[in-house]
Amino acid sequence: MEEHYYVSVDIGSSSVKVVVGEKFHNGINVIGTGQTFTTGIKNGMIDDFDVAQHAIKDTIKKAQIASGIEIEDVFLKMPIIYSEIHDVVHEIKFDGSSTEITGEHIEDVLDGIRDKNSAKDIEIIGVYPKMFKVDDLHEVSDPKEMVATQSLSVDAGVITMERSVLVNILKCVESCGVHVLDVYSDAYNYQHILTPTEVELGTCVIDIGDQLTQVAYYERGTLFDADHIPMAGSVISEDIAEALNISFDDAEKVKEQYGHAFYDLASEQDVFNVTQIDAEAPVAFSQKDLSDVIEGTVEEIFLEVFDLLQEMGLDKINGGFVLTGGSSNLLGIKELLTDMVSEKVRIHVPQQMGIRKPEFTSAISTISSGIIFDELLDYVTINNH
Ligand code: ATP
Ligand code: MG
Repeated sequence: MEEHYYVSVDIGSSSVKVVVGEKFHNGINVIGTGQTFTTGIKNGMIDDFDVAQHAIKDTIKKAQIASGIEIEDVFLKMPIIYSEIHDVVHEIKFDGSSTEITGEHIEDVLDGIRDKNSAKDIEIIGVYPKMFKVDDLHEVSDPKEMVATQSLSVDAGVITMERSVLVNILKCVESCGVHVLDVYSDAYNYQHILTPTEVELGTCVIDIGDQLTQVAYYERGTLFDADHIPMAGSVISEDIAEALNISFDDAEKVKEQYGHAFYDLASEQDVFNVTQIDAEAPVAFSQKDLSDVIEGTVEEIFLEVFDLLQEMGLDKINGGFVLTGGSSNLLGIKELLTDMVSEKVRIHVPQQMGIRKPEFTSAISTISSGIIFDELLDYVTINNH
């Protein structure tokens, strides 16, 4: 029996991440990972093809060595940029005789949406069912094994992306010798890091990465809308570099080692030395000095997030906020957001061994998306457990 592995690739602005996992009971067992820092990606998009290709290839190789698995097929995560989200209803008809609904029927009705909505410069990268209707009577989340005589319809969310952006990412990944089985937008992926109650009540996920802050809002069991802000961890480092008059690389280091996003809680005793540009002698700063800069930038990011939510027509987030992505490693970031909103705030860190860092959220939730679709479409997966 052949074991079934899921491999996801997350091409982030600061690093490429690959996770190899397998389905394990109701969760995912992580078997191996790879991560490579790169300058070939800007805003989650390929900026330098060769550099990006090398980084992706290296990361796949690292994950291959770590997991002991030959990686051939991957799921690719897509960032929430150059993307649009809308709703579509589609139906397939039956001939009046009793038909037991299978994964193939579900695939047919979802594919129908892809065919109906294809445009020249825009590609559909995700069709996620919100609800199915069997014979226009029963509303169900998974109609498999039910019997229909007239029709199967689906109320689905559709995520589109500009074709040329998609084509180039796919080309870059496939040139590394792997086959992309499917792509999943983070707009869909983040739903899997929420509890059913959060998805029902209305919860906002904020992934603060390196160059992108991605925002997705889920309500009544499904994605409502998602968008991004072109501002994240690298802007925080730029602001530190400018305020302390140090190099960008030094700013990254002090941010990660001493950074604090909430001035009121930052320490005055925690002091570090840095060498300023064009200066000989090192200068001392405290974590409190540093937090003064970081708090301002992170606050600006959150204010932009609130603007996005307002544009989406939302003014109350009943289920609260979930922070994730590499920049949510910043001490005090939860406290800062808690100070700015009246809703609950939590940080999401994946719990699987080997990926207990918020920067792995997107990669692991891409695997969740892959598993969910395999189950919905009833693809045969062989599990050795
Ligand atoms: P993007 O999602 O923007 O395309 P990415 O996926 O590569 O980029 P992540 O890996 O989620 O981004 O996060 C990287 C960012 O997190 C970097 O800006 C890095 O400086 C920041 N970061 C990582 N650890 C820490 C830390 N301990 N404190 C502050 N920032 C951190
Ligand atoms: Mg990212």
